[in-house]
Amino acid sequence: MAYEDQCRHSLKPKYDCLLFDVDDTLYPPSSGLSEEVAKNIHEYMVQKIGIEETEVSQMNSVLYRSYGTSMAGLKAIGYDFDNDDYHGSVHGRLPYERLKPDHVLRSLLLSLPIRKVIFSNADKAHVAKVLSRLGLEDCFEGVICFETLNPNNYQAINTPDEIGASIPSYTSKSEILDIINLHGQSNAVSVLPKTPVVCKPFEDAFQQAFKLANIDPQRTVFFDDSVRNIQTGKLMGLHTVLVGKANRTNGADYALESIHNMKEALSVLWEANGDKSEAISFTGKVAIETTVTA
Ligand SMILES: [Mg+2]
Repeated sequence: MAYEDQCRHSLKPKYDCLLFDVDDTLYPPSSGLSEEVAKNIHEYMVQKIGIEETEVSQMNSVLYRSYGTSMAGLKAIGYDFDNDDYHGSVHGRLPYERLKPDHVLRSLLLSLPIRKVIFSNADKAHVAKVLSRLGLEDCFEGVICFETLNPNNYQAINTPDEIGASIPSYTSKSEILDIINLHGQSNAVSVLPKTPVVCKPFEDAFQQAFKLANIDPQRTVFFDDSVRNIQTGKLMGLHTVLVGKANRTNGADYALESIHNMKEALSVLWEANGDKSEAISFTGKVAIETTVTA
């Protein structure tokens, strides 16, 4: 490396992007929203998709483990349903009033002169509602969410006849893979059908996020409450912070019991970038309307 290049390199701040999950990361699990989501997914699988109530819990846990989200798993094994209908049922009815403005987190985020991007598996409307309730809607440069990770999948589901139908049509039961039985077999992982849904914790979701938001993983810190997401994030070259846990697990560079502890644990973010704050563009633009595009 030439001397001039070395000088230029040493002037660069160590980190130039912070990548945040939303649910149970920007707010604590004690809100109970995750339990409500689980209940709504259960209800959707029984009432709208027609899965036997007695099978739902086991099936859901197999799908979640194999595919990252219940939705990705349901689509992989053959169910076809409208994405908006699913998100409306699972997220649309959540008790968002439980989330209150978080002035502490807002101050922390705004005091960091590094660009910040949301990276969530949830739909855009849910992310917008959560950020708005927390009073953080103007703290992020962009939002990577279900719609941005799945632009083609998202548009391919509806036919004109189905739009506006109260209950979308579903694939008949005979065409559905018996995931519970398959899971018990030793070769289950190798024969699992691929899902059309792109989501964490899989590498393609991270690759897409890096491309969409122009992220250099070596210079980015990733915050998420999911151990699996953190592990993939580490494999992809990100610096990783496991949120909501007192102890680090494999793949986590840091562990924070609460996102509020980020300054104590990660003072390096403020120190490494503090003197150069003027040189780094931080616009504080409204995040939700400015979804990151390629
Ligand atoms: Mg989460």
